[in-house]
Amino acid sequence: MKKFNSINLPQKLVENLSLLGYETMTEIQEKAIPEILNSHDVIAQAKTGSGKTATFGIGILLQIDVKNFDPQALIICPTRELASQVTKELQRIARFIHNIKILNLTGGVGKKGQIHSLRYGAHIIVGTPGRLADHLRIKSLNLQTVKILVLDEADRMLDMGFIEVIEEIIARTPNEKQTLLFSATFDEKTKKLAKGILKNPIEVKVDSSHSPKIIKQQFFQTSQKNDTTKKLLHHYRPSSCLIFCNTKIQTEKVADVLYDEGFSVMAIHGDLEQKERDEVLLQFANGSFSILVATDVAARGLDIDDINVIINYDLPREKDVYTHRIGRTGRAGKEGISLSLFNRNDSFKIDEIRKKNEIEIIEIDSLEVKNLEILKPVNQTLCIDGGKKDKLSAGDILGAITKKLGIEGKYVGKIDIFRFKTYVAINQKVIDEVYEGLKNNPIKARNYRIWKMD
Ligand code: AMP
Repeated sequence: MKKFNSINLPQKLVENLSLLGYETMTEIQEKAIPEILNSHDVIAQAKTGSGKTATFGIGILLQIDVKNFDPQALIICPTRELASQVTKELQRIARFIHNIKILNLTGGVGKKGQIHSLRYGAHIIVGTPGRLADHLRIKSLNLQTVKILVLDEADRMLDMGFIEVIEEIIARTPNEKQTLLFSATFDEKTKKLAKGILKNPIEVKVDSSHSPKIIKQQFFQTSQKNDTTKKLLHHYRPSSCLIFCNTKIQTEKVADVLYDEGFSVMAIHGDLEQKERDEVLLQFANGSFSILVATDVAARGLDIDDINVIINYDLPREKDVYTHRIGRTGRAGKEGISLSLFNRNDSFKIDEIRKKNEIEIIEIDSLEVKNLEILKPVNQTLCIDGGKKDKLSAGDILGAITKKLGIEGKYVGKIDIFRFKTYVAINQKVIDEVYEGLKNNPIKARNYRIWKMD
């Protein structure tokens, strides 16, 4: 594997990547970044977790003129969650450039704030098709200055029926531009889209099947899915587990069964409001509960490196969805386990999966359960009713907990600060002490309302 400093990148960028822990390039980065820097249109077939965001991120950042506040790059993503992950990753990679503005334009929040931000200008726009099209219609967004366009998870966008909106958006960008298309799979629909919008593209592919060394894929035949799921959880004792179901109702049912058994579990699906979905994802990512039961749509864009077990409670209807699902584990070279339940009617789906993956079929009775005690999550989330608008920073909160309350920093986990609210992951061992302490002590000379989430 090549190091980032083996290609011609600015020293400051390489140093920042190194601070982020990115020393060597992932396969897609090694293959695609040089092509992008040579101004080619690129079709990249790469699985989730391959490092694709940094691939197009680096390509974009090196082309931005920060003195000019017109949108120069546009990234279209299928979901709000993915758009938000992409924005965060770009912000991390862009830390070496002063004054760069990356704007997230997705639904679920009012347009007013976005219109305001657009007036001030942004170099990079990351958005979902619906909201981008809304801004184009009301003329708050002008894409005539775009130099580079990225379609992220293009196959997902097509599955979600976004083709016309995407074409409408692309029609508003200049003809002369660089276009990059990223997709986990490359079926006929995606090929057709690519043909219409990319010019002499270079195709870059990384192996979309998962190596058995990184993701262990085990299959269990069962007619008692709930009991089998419980047994798998007792046997593997994952600290972070994502369970996939094919329907919203099923996610609720499975979460209820596991909750009754004492597991720390939540369900997420498209019927939840955006705010509820965000809070569930945030608490899962910060280690405040260990099991998330999700539909495919709700889990898209979830970018957590530490999911150690994926369970397919229902096998997906399409085999490519299986690839997406198990790609949530075994990220960035870590080992992951994917456990799939199936019944007698599923044998054709297994045959399909087997064509591209090395799978093992295992008798559930052969698994031993040595310990029925349920692993509790490490953290619990404290919510503070103050955020960026109160000029709170992660440092202020960490300082209030460590300096004023005398709690060791190692007990403080992720701190997520939003405009009006802040979420802080605190180790369960000290949660009560921190909760009482923050309730009774000001943070930056102000008392905030604070509560524990569960
Ligand atoms: P993505 O495919 O963009 O979702 O990236 C998957 C994960 O890999 C993200 O958490 C990135 O922060 C991480 N990542 C991306 N590039 C590298 C790299 N060269 N070395 C280590 N980690 C990386």
